[in-house]
Amino acid sequence: MWTKPYGRTGKNISVIGFGAMRFANPADLDASAVVVRHAHAKGINYFDTAPYYCDDRSEAIMGRAFQTMPRDSFYVSTKCAEADGDALRASLERSLKRLGVDSIDFFHIWCLLRPEQLDERRQKGAIAAAQRARAEGLIKHLVVSSHLNGEDNASVLDSGLFEGITVGYNAINFPFRAKTLETAAKHNLGVATMNPLGGGLIPRNAARLAFLKGPQDKDVVQAALRFNVSQPAITCALVGFANEREVDEAVAAVENFQPYPAEHIERIKGSIGSSFEGFCTGCGYCIPCPVNVEIPKLMDTYNQKILEGTDAAMTDRLKWHWSLSPEVAAACTECGACEDACTQHLPIRERLREIAALANGR
Ligand code: SF4
Ligand code: SF4
Repeated sequence: MWTKPYGRTGKNISVIGFGAMRFANPADLDASAVVVRHAHAKGINYFDTAPYYCDDRSEAIMGRAFQTMPRDSFYVSTKCAEADGDALRASLERSLKRLGVDSIDFFHIWCLLRPEQLDERRQKGAIAAAQRARAEGLIKHLVVSSHLNGEDNASVLDSGLFEGITVGYNAINFPFRAKTLETAAKHNLGVATMNPLGGGLIPRNAARLAFLKGPQDKDVVQAALRFNVSQPAITCALVGFANEREVDEAVAAVENFQPYPAEHIERIKGSIGSSFEGFCTGCGYCIPCPVNVEIPKLMDTYNQKILEGTDAAMTDRLKWHWSLSPEVAAACTECGACEDACTQHLPIRERLREIAALANGR
């Protein structure tokens, strides 16, 4: 497996990382652990989990798998979103226990959605608690996971607190995060990318996105993964695996692969550029909505309009894919909570109004 140095940590990690949030049946720890061990046997050495993933079972699954994996043959990443220092410590200790390890290789200050949250994590003690844990050897490297835009991520990385970042980045949303990569490269920090397939959007729109494919690529999924890992600033692309077949497909995408030359990356960027900005990536951070509007489904519907350019594309998507009627969008009370949480900063309320108007043929 192709590996890259994770910033200046001295660790080399596989360019495909195991995202432990998509197990097919998380209640079955043993069956799920088989998928993890299969990935390890295929050369994946970076395993990314978190509390609450997979009905809060992901860390236990990883711990089950790690029981038979030599500790010096893999790196484990987990996370904590608590702002309070004592709460972070408790979460870290729980993670260590569930994972069955003495230390976390990459510990994330988790899920920055608004720029002021970094200050909050500082003021309430989370950062200091993590630094203490690192001094004790319970954490090897302190990193951050963020859904901020490129400029805000640049400030987070300029703070000097972190040795790397996990950030959503793919062939569709890259303009939104370009500054993140630039800043990480400037400081020689590691970058793990989540959502490299745009939450399934890329494979679902394979025909429309066929221009992603280069001559060596089997399909757009392979092309999208290669787009990510070919970029020097990106250390690894995290893929959420449900089964062994998915592991094999992702590994095949990077085996015997020469990174795309810079001109190819630029050609893809030029083709997709601004016309694909504003996509919902299906990350789900906007839910739950207080009045239970199914926001990701409705924003996926809006993606079809961006792709196809017609209202009919939305009507079809609603009816045939989601079995929803446009009226469901009218339940929105415009509280704005989803827009504050949206990782892509989408104008959700405006889009919901547009979808609701489809009900009357307006
Ligand atoms: S703005 Fe509308 S869709 Fe968004 S959280 Fe509020 S009620 Fe729900
Ligand atoms: S609307 Fe925004 S937060 Fe919600 S799923 Fe889409 S991209 Fe994610």
